[in-house]
Amino acid sequence: MEKAGNLAAVNGVKVSGPFAVNTPVLRERGTTLTVNEVFQHVMNYTHWEPNSALIRNYLEHSSEAVENLLEIGYQFEEANFRFKTPFVDEKGGFHLILTDVDKRARLWTEAYEKYGVDVFFNMAAKEVLKENGKIAGVAGQRKDGSKVTVHAKSVIIASGGYLGNKELLLKYLGTTHVNVATRGKSLCTGDGLAIAQKAGAILDKTFGYCGCEYGGTNPKASRPATQDKYDQNLAFKFGIYGNLLVDNQGKRFMNEGLLCDYPMSYGEEPTLRHSPYYAIVDQEYVDKMRDEGLYEYLTKRGANHDNWFIGSYYKQRGALKSLDSDLEEGIHEGWIVKADTLEELAKKTGFDHLTGTVASYNSYCEKGEDEQFGANPWYLSSVKQGPFYAIECEVSAWSTFGGVKTDDECRALAEDDQVIPGMYVVGTDNGSMMYSPYYDIPGFCYSSCIGSGVIAGHGASAYAKA
Ligand SMILES: Cc1cc2nc3c(=O)[nH]c(=O)nc-3n(C[C@H](O)[C@H](O)[C@H](O)COP(=O)(O)OP(=O)(O)OC[C@H]3O[C@@H](n4cnc5c(N)ncnc54)[C@H](O)[C@@H]3O)c2cc1C
Repeated sequence: MEKAGNLAAVNGVKVSGPFAVNTPVLRERGTTLTVNEVFQHVMNYTHWEPNSALIRNYLEHSSEAVENLLEIGYQFEEANFRFKTPFVDEKGGFHLILTDVDKRARLWTEAYEKYGVDVFFNMAAKEVLKENGKIAGVAGQRKDGSKVTVHAKSVIIASGGYLGNKELLLKYLGTTHVNVATRGKSLCTGDGLAIAQKAGAILDKTFGYCGCEYGGTNPKASRPATQDKYDQNLAFKFGIYGNLLVDNQGKRFMNEGLLCDYPMSYGEEPTLRHSPYYAIVDQEYVDKMRDEGLYEYLTKRGANHDNWFIGSYYKQRGALKSLDSDLEEGIHEGWIVKADTLEELAKKTGFDHLTGTVASYNSYCEKGEDEQFGANPWYLSSVKQGPFYAIECEVSAWSTFGGVKTDDECRALAEDDQVIPGMYVVGTDNGSMMYSPYYDIPGFCYSSCIGSGVIAGHGASAYAKA
């Protein structure tokens, strides 16, 4: 059952690619990465917080997941991601999908026919049915309201999390200011979590999100921030370029340089905690970004190819040429505030601490040392020459993390860790695989989604046949 009307709307069809180990793609490339290396890194990074046996199991199935995609016609290339990760070059594992999105949807349709899979579009799963305590199927509802029952001995829940449900965002992430990175609304409204809980499952304890690595956005904007290949208001770049950021009291809250260098693993949590947050820049910085761009600006301050991994990406981006009109657009739309003096900016925004924060921050800029959060000195850009700007940014996300507690075979667990036979939970609905903040390995989210899909596919099939 798929709530969307067609495959083009399904998130999994739109991804850039999965991380995976021991695949034919990597063997051809000659990379030497092992499951063990990745597993140890991940467990160390997370301090063994997720279900370790499940992580190991999924990593071991990551190759099979990629092989399945190869079999239906996907093409991949092993590629470095734009920000620094532990696994690059001869230890690389990110599988960039070369097949374009329209073609992917066609490949899936052909695969459904070839393997005899019935997919019901425009149909929302509503409930897992049980008979005599055993899984008996799923009750669904078509868009026109008509009801459908699918009889089955095992069920796999994969409804993609709760990004489209403000109530659950507030409950699990502590804020409703989380936007859908693909713009618009998300069909992923936490149905799988509710359905599993109604059938007796419990939720695991970690909640988080897979943040958009292109920076913050704002729902008031007519051209919200998104992937750099699409048109967007370039003023949002001040929400990720490493310049001063403050919260809604005007207090600084993070090492902004880390957000620029590692937007997902380091940048996600502080920006989520303070969403909406505000970039504070002066006219001198605006002029530099419009005329030079971040790469030229920072390489003059000591950044280079060896010490600034993400720099090569910003080299391609160049200067933010349309910045003047983009700032005007943001002012007009109500998410940028401009003022001639800092005092006026503080008054207009209502940020009581702003002038004090800027005074301290400017002193760090002068000293070349961030005494508060330790940001790399090349990011420290003083805020002195008016006019001044406050740019309101909210986080945006590809998906949420957090959901149903499962064992290492993706089987849903009830209280006291009792397995619910026949009920499997995979992808971002699975609460035992993901970690917050997001992993420092690009493609890990989709990788764990398809890896867990393979595990549950085998398990659900065997259980139904037994
Ligand atoms: C555009 C985009 C690009 C991404 N790129 C990457 C990437 O390159 N690498 C990476 O690691 N991660 C990426 N992600 C994050 C994540 O890996 C994907 O979102 C992934 O597809 C999540 O898989 P999933 O199976 O959990 O959910 P989804 O792929 O979102 O699938 C869940 C499906 O369930 C449907 N649904 C919801 N409720 C119901 C219901 N009640 N009944 C029936 N159907 C329902 C939804 O319509 C949806 O199609 C990306 C996400 C997006 C949106």
